[in-house]
Amino acid sequence: SPFPIVLTGAVQRGFGRGGKDLGCPTANLPDESILPMSSVTQTGVYYGYAQVSREKDGEVILAEEDSQVFPMVMSLGWNPFYKNEKLTAEIHIMHDFKKDFYGHEMQAIVLGYIRPELDYVSREALIEDIETDKRVALTSLARPGYEKFREDPLFDATA
Ligand code: ADP
Ligand code: MG
Repeated sequence: SPFPIVLTGAVQRGFGRGGKDLGCPTANLPDESILPMSSVTQTGVYYGYAQVSREKDGEVILAEEDSQVFPMVMSLGWNPFYKNEKLTAEIHIMHDFKKDFYGHEMQAIVLGYIRPELDYVSREALIEDIETDKRVALTSLARPGYEKFREDPLFDATA
């Protein structure tokens, strides 16, 4: 198995469409930070854990409760905006954040694959699938052997 795969980088601004109005904001990782995903070529939805650093530019911005290690679902895909030549990774963290965290460092451990990308006939179908992905992620992470990744040294235990 190629997992666990570690991804880290400062959260980038995306096109600001889709995410939030689907009730599913996705934090974008910078291009170079996605390199470790080259070991798995499959595009689609993955699950794992993620943490966002409290600080940005040396200043504490996020509340302590927002900088814990949370379950996440990640979409890996070819970006149609760049003629499908650019791979993008977007992470939805399963936590209700009080604030946005653009520019903050994000650490993620990818632990498994859920499904390939699909073309959606409706917004409702897409939202339904995202809900299923989140349930699958939580069920998978609840299996014995996964909890240890939450305590991985990659993550900041003092946050
Ligand atoms: P963008 O196109 O800029 O990625 P989104 O609508 O996808 O816009 O929103 C993503 C941003 O929302 C993230 O960069 C982050 O700052 C913020 N955000 C708030 N809550 C979450 C969350 N639970 N998971 C991911 N990002 C979140
Ligand atoms: Mg996004």
